[in-house]
Amino acid sequence: MPVGTHASVRGQRREDILDSGAQVLLANTYHLLLRPGPELFEKLGGIHAFMNWPRSVLTDSGGFQIFSLPNSRNMREDGAEFLSYVDNSTVCLSPERSIAMQKSIGSDIMMVLDQCVPATVDRATARQAMELTHRWAQRSLDARGESPQALFGIVQGACYTDLRIESARAITQLPFDGFAIGGLAVGESVAEREDCTATVTDVLPADKPRYLMGVGTTRDLLEAVHRGVDMFDCILPTSLAAQGVAFTSQGRRDLRRAAYRGNEGPLDPGCRCTTCRNYSIAYLCHLRATYDSQATQLVGLHNLHFYLQLMRTMRQHILAGNWLEFYHAQRDVLDARDSYGPKTRLRTQAIRKALNLKKGRYEIVVRDDIGRIRDTVSGEVMHSVNDPAEEARSLYVEQSRLMQRVQLTDAEPLVIWDVGLGAAANAMAAINAVESMPAEAQRRRLQVVSFESDLDSLHLALRHTRWFKHLRHAAPNRLLASNRWLSATGSLEWLLLPGDFMQRKHDAPVPDIVFFDPFSLKTDSALWTLHAFRELAELFQHKATEMFTYTYSTSVRAALLAAGFFVARGCAAGPKGETTIALSPLATALPHGRELLGAEWLTKWQRSDAQAPLGAADGDDTWRNAVTGHPQFGI
Ligand SMILES: [Zn+2]
Repeated sequence: MPVGTHASVRGQRREDILDSGAQVLLANTYHLLLRPGPELFEKLGGIHAFMNWPRSVLTDSGGFQIFSLPNSRNMREDGAEFLSYVDNSTVCLSPERSIAMQKSIGSDIMMVLDQCVPATVDRATARQAMELTHRWAQRSLDARGESPQALFGIVQGACYTDLRIESARAITQLPFDGFAIGGLAVGESVAEREDCTATVTDVLPADKPRYLMGVGTTRDLLEAVHRGVDMFDCILPTSLAAQGVAFTSQGRRDLRRAAYRGNEGPLDPGCRCTTCRNYSIAYLCHLRATYDSQATQLVGLHNLHFYLQLMRTMRQHILAGNWLEFYHAQRDVLDARDSYGPKTRLRTQAIRKALNLKKGRYEIVVRDDIGRIRDTVSGEVMHSVNDPAEEARSLYVEQSRLMQRVQLTDAEPLVIWDVGLGAAANAMAAINAVESMPAEAQRRRLQVVSFESDLDSLHLALRHTRWFKHLRHAAPNRLLASNRWLSATGSLEWLLLPGDFMQRKHDAPVPDIVFFDPFSLKTDSALWTLHAFRELAELFQHKATEMFTYTYSTSVRAALLAAGFFVARGCAAGPKGETTIALSPLATALPHGRELLGAEWLTKWQRSDAQAPLGAADGDDTWRNAVTGHPQFGI
């Protein structure tokens, strides 16, 4: 089953999936529950109509996804409680709710909600999770009622043979339409997985489908079929394609290897997929080298074909009665290490440096022809999801209404602080916006003050303006040369204050608008502390200042409130349903039109386990009183 997490196999057209011969598509209940939500499926007549998919769909229960959120979930007898990554709200997934959701999605095969634990847990924990899974299995059956959708039970028990047997016996007592082996591919060795699979399939009835969840490479499939498994789902064909890795009849091929650059042959001479019929390895390598997203799509398409072809071939050999010959012949061929051409070691970092894609602690990553800056120390990518120029425009330029504000006559310039210059996406968005206005419309000067401790990111981006199009302007080079750029008319000024923002903020005029866009709490933690926000609140106390930031973190909002800001919901940005605006008391006193957080947020915060602002000292509770007694909540 190709994995269609969000009702689509990432990067692949449904036509191509149909063409690959896939009979069943897997979709993830957890993700679809959060977005687009059950109401839409009900309105549109289920997932088949929604994505125009004429064949079968299997939905998982959400158990595995909840297992992958160890820090934001809470397992109880009635169900699992977790925080939505879409809007940070609390969601409860019970066996009944999972089945209800899968009914709304309208899949052909539903899965019971189970409790998945790492393969390495102690026996007592494994037993507890297994027993809960058994109780939930019965509740799932009850919840199915008269639905014609098939329902599969799941065997748990970590890597304990006796627990696995006990679980398989208990689950097969119940009237399920098929049985899955869950809790594998979560930290056990290959040998443990294979032993465990054999233990369970020995107990499962022969006349119902057996499904090994989340496994694996082509060789894993061969070994599991040998042990009696019928069905699989795995993300590897498409996820490894993104790294340039293909599964072929001659083993793995890693297109990152220089040896393939001039190879005129197809990925797999034995394959009849669109990719292998039409493209040479050399061309696929070239697409990768030029960051063309077709590289991932074409290799992924081949991998899907290869997996499905392998399953068809295995079935033919079983039916023909010569499975064992096939199995022994394939064991060392499938998924063999890539041994094509001379042995060269991949030196990605050296290559990036040679291409000038790296400077200091930063490097450029390119997706869809748009460059982004990665901090190699933390691994964090700035604006990893959104187009940086688009986010700069909507989150900072439009929300701050800066274009309207420079149209109002004022002797004082409008001052913007740009905290975290990075590749200058936000500052240039502001400058471009004002420059796009008719000159006579600008009646107030604009002064942008950028703060940045490490200018390597801007230097780096300026070398590659084909991916950082907003930098095709005289201003950034001028700014780096002399820390100041002034427009020809003098109505636009851009200043750079290099160094530590906490120090340099005292050297700048007090702002009207702040674009607060440093790296995250993890990478730039000093800028997100209660102490840092208190200093800012004090600086802004005599001015109507609005500060815009991309996060909607509960603890950051608490820190802003505790520091004396008023806090409002900001606009959505990419996958984030909302962002945050902090207002100085004077800004709140003017008509601001912002949606301040209300009592319902306070209640949510009081129940949250992320209440404390970053940097709050142990034993000091003044911040707690400052939040609960904040005038914003009318107390
Ligand atoms: Zn192919």
